[in-house]
Amino acid sequence: MRATSRMIAAIGVVSLAACAGNGGAGAGPTAGGGYPEQNITIVVPFSAGGPTDTVTRMIAEPMAAKLGTKIVVQNVEGAGGTVGAGEVARAQPDGYNVLMHHIGMSTAPALYQNLGYKPLESFETVGLVTEVPMTIVARKDFEPKTLQDLVTYVKANASKVTLANAGIGAASHLCGLLFQTAAGVKVQEVPYEGTGPALTDLVGGQVDFMCDQTTNTSGQISAGEVKAYAVTTPERVKSLPDLPTTAEAGLPKLQVSVWHGLYVPKGTPQDVVQKLSDALKTALADQKVVDQMAKLGTAPVPAESATPQAHRTKLEEQLGTWAKVIADAGVKAS
Ligand code: ASP
Repeated sequence: MRATSRMIAAIGVVSLAACAGNGGAGAGPTAGGGYPEQNITIVVPFSAGGPTDTVTRMIAEPMAAKLGTKIVVQNVEGAGGTVGAGEVARAQPDGYNVLMHHIGMSTAPALYQNLGYKPLESFETVGLVTEVPMTIVARKDFEPKTLQDLVTYVKANASKVTLANAGIGAASHLCGLLFQTAAGVKVQEVPYEGTGPALTDLVGGQVDFMCDQTTNTSGQISAGEVKAYAVTTPERVKSLPDLPTTAEAGLPKLQVSVWHGLYVPKGTPQDVVQKLSDALKTALADQKVVDQMAKLGTAPVPAESATPQAHRTKLEEQLGTWAKVIADAGVKAS
């Protein structure tokens, strides 16, 4: 494996990557009836250009229009999404500091000993956003042709095969773990600050394979820039109709999709949480957002799931599910 600057030891880096408006959010007063009175920042805990970032940018503009303010998208990468999540947990609970996070919110407590935040105690849930299928993809000249070939190949070549992910607890890491468990093999994992840069290296041939969301891989799969083996959901994805499901391809236990939600720090006023949730619902009903998501193999959640309560219920359930999976797998972040 040739190392690239996109591969990391898991370290947090802050970069202002995108702005759906005209400036950054400052420390604000307690929000009240006039909210919002300044720009809102949505922190993405992974690199710009990756799947979490892509979904956030899709909804930022219609949310900003509904709220009558600007939304800044800020990438705070590192440690499988825990650096950015920690930053928002410690931010002012005034409605101007928002986090977009995914399934990793429910896996981190079982993986990290000193997380610095507790999902249910440090945040208010705002609403679910989307649930995205994952795909298993490889560099285009990787020898295995099918998912079964991939299993056989990695078993025979475990010490030299490389598997990219976005750090411990990231969706790509979890899906990679499920693959290795299903295949009964352990390969060399290569962490990145997000799967945007990981995919760049996969296309460039610097790593062998990875598991990532259709919101990141669809373009490269359709363009033939990567080899795709399967989608990790029970049904095929409409936008990638030729791609078999993992069940069809022989690994029925490898099932995972990546749910996303918006959070604000605990103590954010309830009327503010409600305004954000209402803006999220508006964004998810926007035809442009629906179309963009469909092209990338996903869809907005139904309106009743874009609520604080539905999101909290999902988070509670997922924390339990993943604590068990992770304990059974015996995985810990170092
Ligand atoms: N969603 C990716 C993962 O968890 C990270 C990213 O958004 O870049 O693997």
